[in-house]
Amino acid sequence: MADRPRIVGIDLGTTNTLVASVRNRIPKIVPTDRGNLILPTVVALSAKGDLLVGGVAKDQMVTNPRNTLWGTKRLIGRKYHSKSVEDLRGSFPYDIVEGPNGDAAVMMGGKLYTLPQVSSFVLSQLKTIAEQFLGGPIDAAVISVPAYYNDNQRQAVKEAGRLAGFDVKRIVNEPTAAALAYGFNRGLDQKVLVYDLGGGTFDVSVLHLAGNVFEVLATGGDTFLGGADFDTRIMEYVLERFREETKVDLTENPIALQRIKNAAEAAKIDLTLIPNVVIDLPFIDERKGKPVDLRIPLTREFLNSLTGDLVDRTFEICDRVLEEKGIARSDIDEIILVGGQSRMPLVQQKIQAHFGKPPRKGVHPDECVALGAALLGDSLGSIDAVTLLDAVSMPIGYALPNGRVKRIIEKNSLIPMVKSFRLPPPKEPGSAYIELDIFQGDSDLMVDNEYLGTVRVPAAAAGRKIDFRLTEECLLQVTVEEASGTPRRVDLATRDTPEQLKRALSDVLRNNVDHQPVVSGSNAASDDERGLLSSIKRVFRRG
Ligand code: AMP
Repeated sequence: MADRPRIVGIDLGTTNTLVASVRNRIPKIVPTDRGNLILPTVVALSAKGDLLVGGVAKDQMVTNPRNTLWGTKRLIGRKYHSKSVEDLRGSFPYDIVEGPNGDAAVMMGGKLYTLPQVSSFVLSQLKTIAEQFLGGPIDAAVISVPAYYNDNQRQAVKEAGRLAGFDVKRIVNEPTAAALAYGFNRGLDQKVLVYDLGGGTFDVSVLHLAGNVFEVLATGGDTFLGGADFDTRIMEYVLERFREETKVDLTENPIALQRIKNAAEAAKIDLTLIPNVVIDLPFIDERKGKPVDLRIPLTREFLNSLTGDLVDRTFEICDRVLEEKGIARSDIDEIILVGGQSRMPLVQQKIQAHFGKPPRKGVHPDECVALGAALLGDSLGSIDAVTLLDAVSMPIGYALPNGRVKRIIEKNSLIPMVKSFRLPPPKEPGSAYIELDIFQGDSDLMVDNEYLGTVRVPAAAAGRKIDFRLTEECLLQVTVEEASGTPRRVDLATRDTPEQLKRALSDVLRNNVDHQPVVSGSNAASDDERGLLSSIKRVFRRG
C-alpha cells in the first residue's frame, strides 16, 4: 500500500477553499465534513460566542453580518493606510481596523483579529478535515496565491499557514498550480495559456511546459473584472425592465436588491446549462398595501448580448500580455480554464473564436489549483521534482525623495533572482541612518504602490552593495554588505522586526508632492460610482 500523504495542497480562495492530497501519484480533492469538495472561506462568531468556519459560518451571514468575515483574501497582507484598503473599506459589513505593524485587521465579537489569524481558522479547519479523511497527522502544505500578490500578501498567507500548524513548504502562484495539474509528468513541450475568470478578478498567465519544467513567460490581469460584473449587468437589466413595467424603482430597496443580486447570479449559472430561465421573485415590493411580484424571463442569447463586452475585455488583456512577450496567439498550444465564470458557454465560444482552438477539457476549473498545489507538494524532494521558473508580477523598488519609485526589480523578471546596487547616502545629510522605504506595484508613484517595509542601516554603509533577492516563492530578502565585505541579511522594519517602526506609514507617504491619484482602466468607473446600487455593486464584487 502506498504511503499515507503527509502534505496537502490548498487553494485558499476568496469565496471557497479547497484542499487536495496525492495518493498513488493521483491528486484528489479531500471532501469536507459536509461531503462537499469546497469549504466556504467564511469565518464567524455565533451569537453564543462560538467560532464558526465554512458552511456553518456562511449560513448565518445574513442574520449576523457584522461578525461574519468573508472576502478577506482581498485584505490579507494589506496596509491599513493603503489605497486598496481605503477603496474596500465600507464594502464589508464588518469593521476593518488598523492592526499590528500598520496592517489591516478586522473586528469580530468586539475583538481584533489579524488577517493571517482569520485565514488560519480556515486553514486549521482544513487541516482537521484532511487529517480525519486521510487518517493521520498532516504536517505540511503548499498554499496557492494569486500571481499578482505582492510580498506582504505572500508573507501573510505563509504566516496564516504557520498559525494553523502547517509547515508551509511552498507558496505557489495559482496559474502555475493550474498548469501543473494539466501538465505534470506528461512529458509535454507546449506553451499553455491559463485563463482565470473568477468571481471578481481576471488573470492570465502564459507558461512554457518542457517536461516537468514550468516556466512562466508572462502574466497580467484586471483585479476588477469577474463574475460579479456579469451579475451586475443582469441586475441592471432586471431593475430597468421592472421599472418600465411597473413604474416601481427598486434601487433604494436594499433587501430587494440583495434578492435580485442572488437571483441574477443563479440565473447566470443556470443559463450555462439551459437556454432560458425566468427570474421569479414574488413580493419584491409593496404598492398601496398590495404585493408586487417580479417575473422577468432571460435567455442565454440575451445574457450574451448583455455581457459580451466583458468577455471581450479579457481578450484585450490576453493580447496585451502576449504582445509584451512577442508571443503570437497561434503559438499557444493549449488554453486552460480556471475560475467559475469561465464555465459560461459564451466565454468558451469566444475563446475558440479568438485563439482558433477550444479550451482544454478535462482540467476542472474549480479544482485544478488545489490539485496542482498537491502535486507540487508531493513532488518536493523527490527525484522527478518539478522545476518552477516563475515571474514577478509587479516591480519592486525604493522611494525617492520626490515621491517617485526607483525600480530595482522589473515586472516579469524570472524568479528566483538577485538584483544588486549600491546603497545611496542618507536622505538627510548628517543623518545616522540610511532608510530605504521599499514599495511594490506598477506605478512610478510610491503612493499608488504597496509599502513592503523599510531597510534601515547605519549611514556608514553608503556605497556598499545591497542585494534584493526574490526567492522561488517570490518573497523578498534583503542583504547588505558589511564593512568586511560579508553579506548580512537585514530585516525590513515594520514587517520582520518585532517592535513597531517609530514612524507611521502615513509619514512614509508624506513626502509625496505633486501626486494626482492615477485611476486607470476599469477601476476608474468604480471610483465615481455613487448611490446604493453602486455600493451594492462594490460589495458583491469579489476576487
Ligand atoms: P471562483 O472565484 O472561481 O469561485 O468563481 C466564482 C464565480 O463563478 C462567481 O461569479 C459565480 O457566479 C461564477 N460561476 C460559477 N459557476 C458558474 C457557471 N456554471 N456559469 C457561469 N458562472 C459561474
